[in-house]
Amino acid sequence: MTEYRIPFNRPPVLGGELQAIEQALAQGHLSGDGAFSRECHELLKQVTAAKKVLLTTSCTHALEMSALLLNIQPGDEVILPSYGFVSTVNAFVLRGAKPVFVDIRPDTLNIDEELVAKAITERTRAIVPIHYAGVACNMDRLMKLGHTHGVPIVEDNAHGLFGRYKGSPLGSFGSLATLSFHETKNITCGEGGALLINDESLMERAEIIREKGTNRSRFFRGEVDKYSWVDVGSSYLPSEILAAYLAVQLRRSEDIQKRRKTIWQTYYAALQEWAVAHDVRLPVVPEECEQAFHMFYVLFPSEELRDRAIARMKAKSILSVFHYLPLHLSEMGLQFGGAPGQCKVTEDISRRLARLPLYYSLTDDDQADVCRAVQTCL
Ligand SMILES: *Cc1c(COP(=O)(O)O)cnc(C)c1O
Repeated sequence: MTEYRIPFNRPPVLGGELQAIEQALAQGHLSGDGAFSRECHELLKQVTAAKKVLLTTSCTHALEMSALLLNIQPGDEVILPSYGFVSTVNAFVLRGAKPVFVDIRPDTLNIDEELVAKAITERTRAIVPIHYAGVACNMDRLMKLGHTHGVPIVEDNAHGLFGRYKGSPLGSFGSLATLSFHETKNITCGEGGALLINDESLMERAEIIREKGTNRSRFFRGEVDKYSWVDVGSSYLPSEILAAYLAVQLRRSEDIQKRRKTIWQTYYAALQEWAVAHDVRLPVVPEECEQAFHMFYVLFPSEELRDRAIARMKAKSILSVFHYLPLHLSEMGLQFGGAPGQCKVTEDISRRLARLPLYYSLTDDDQADVCRAVQTCL
C-alpha cells in the first residue's frame, strides 16, 4: 500500500485508550457486556436518545441483527438507496430479501423519499435510509410513509452519530438504527458498532439474538434463574478490550466533533469561490439538519475532471477518494434486476464525487496544503 503524506483517513487516538485497556485487563472481565460496555451504552443513549443501545462487533452485524429482529423472510422486499454501502443491503439479502434500489436526491445525496413512496408494495418489509455524510434524510416524510404502510424504518446511521434532524438526534427515529465504529468513522474502536432500539417490542429479542439465542442477559439481571436456548441468534458482542477503547473515544467525543467541524468549515470557506468558478458543487446541508461532520466531498463537473483531480492530488502525495459504486449495477445488483439508467442520479454522482482527507489529527498546515492542491487540480 502506498504511504501518502496526507492520507485520506487516520483513526483518532486521543491518549488514554491504552490505559483503559489496561484497566479492562486488571478487572479480569474480557468478554462482552462488562463495565466499559455499560458505560458505552449509557453514553450512546445520551447522545442518540435511543431507548436501548447494544454494542455490536460492527455496523454490519447491527444491520444483520435488524434483519433477524424484523423476521425478514425470502421474497420480502426491502427498500434502500442504490448509492450506499454493501452491508446495508447484504444484511437483508442474507435472509433472502429482495433489495429494491431507489435513487437519491441530487442535493443531499440521501434516498429520494418520493421514490420510496412509489417503491412501496404489499411485500415491503423495511425501509433502510442512510444518512449520507451524516446529513439527515427527510425523516418527516419517511416516518410518515412507514407509519401509513406499517413498514418499519431502520436508519443506517453509520455516518451520522451526533447528527440531528429538526432538533432530534439521528438514530432516534427508526424502529431500529445502526452505528459503526470502524476506523473510518468519527468515533472508533477499530471494528465495532451498535444497534439502537426504539421499538420497545423488539428490545428483549434483540438481547437474545445478540447472545447466541439465549436469555443470558435476563439471567445476569436476575430475572430468570437459569438461561437457555430460546430463539435463533448469533454472537454479536464486542469484548471489553474494544469497549474500553471506545469508551475513551466517547468520553472525548466533543473534542473529536469540534475538530472535525473546524476542518469541515475550513474546507467549505476555502473552496467556495473556486467551486463557483469551476462549476464544482460542495456539500448541501438543509436548514433542518445539524450534520455530523463525517465527510467533506466535492462534486466535479465530469468523471474525467474528477479522476484527473484525484490523480493530481496523488502526485502531491495527498489521498482523495471516490465513494460508492451504484449497488444496482454491481455484480450482485444485476442479479436482482438492476439495469443502467434505473437510478440516474446515483450513476451520475458516483462518477463525479471525490472525498477529501478529514480526520481528527489533520493539522492546519496539512489542510492548507490539501486546499491548495484542490484549487489547482483542474
Ligand atoms: C461503514 C458503514 C457500514 C458498515 O460499518 P462496519 O462497522 O464496518 O460494519 C454500513 N453502512 C454505512 C453507510 C457505512 O458507511
